Amino acid sequence: MELLKERILHDGVIKDDDILKVDSFLNHQMDIALLNEIGQEFRTRFADVPVNKILTIEASGIGIAAIAAQYFDNAPVVFAKKTQSRNLDGALYTAPVHSFTKGVTYNVQVSQKFLGPDDTVLIIDDFLARGQALIGLIDIVQQSGASLAGCGIVIEKMYQGGGTLLRSRGVRIESLARIASLEHGTVTFL
Ligand code: 5GP
Repeated sequence: MELLKERILHDGVIKDDDILKVDSFLNHQMDIALLNEIGQEFRTRFADVPVNKILTIEASGIGIAAIAAQYFDNAPVVFAKKTQSRNLDGALYTAPVHSFTKGVTYNVQVSQKFLGPDDTVLIIDDFLARGQALIGLIDIVQQSGASLAGCGIVIEKMYQGGGTLLRSRGVRIESLARIASLEHGTVTFL
């Protein structure tokens, strides 16, 4: 998606040759016009599947998924929670997700009320790196008996292997900007 790539080149900041900061337009301050373009692009790419629910993970995925959902006939957005909460009652699906950027493992949780065998789920997230977040979310979809339509990712860091691993398992992944390298302070797209 050219608009997104241009924005990454213009406003993205590389940290430690490995982390791309996009907090001025994607995951801290959010550019709503860009998020609408991203939502429409996901719709175009997944036009062939009858998505009736979108699953993401807090916090950065929520805004992206909520705007994208409007292009999927206002499909409900369910977000996996990273922390225990007294408000999260009843039966839960849970899966471990290790975050390499934060160095912690979360036991992410989704209420069983909101995902089940009648659902066709599109997973949406901001980044795909080593694939841990997607592996956890796919685990939850499988526990629920729902069908997985695929995963829509805004930025995939191809060199970290998560996409290769998941595609080899037959998971459909559509990423809108695919990064081959962040070395020497330069973003190189695939
Ligand atoms: P994975 O689980 O695929 O290893 O990593 C994906 C998660 O880690 C994303 O949800 C995102 O929050 C975070 N992440 C991984 N790489 C980056 C990065 O380069 N920049 C930012 N901002 N977040 C990242």
